[in-house]
Amino acid sequence: MMRFIFFCLLAYLVYRLISFWQRLGRPASSGSPQTPPVRSGNMVKDEVCQTYFPQENALREIIDGEERFFCSPECRRKCLEERNKSR
Ligand SMILES: [Zn+2]
Repeated sequence: MMRFIFFCLLAYLVYRLISFWQRLGRPASSGSPQTPPVRSGNMVKDEVCQTYFPQENALREIIDGEERFFCSPECRRKCLEERNKSR
């Protein structure tokens, strides 16, 4: 009989320990969904025609180490021309 009670106590302690660990692990696991997922619908601005459009539709160009986005090759050409003019 004593063995049975001891076994029950042990099982209870193990159960408590497991639930404690699960509670302990929860804040760590809930921390990762808080980081914002990378949105594919990220909006960027075309500095030439001052319009916003999705980044996946943008033409990307590195100008003077700065990342620029353009809605069309026309806008990219205009921006590059203005860069050359200012020099
Ligand atoms: Zn444009």
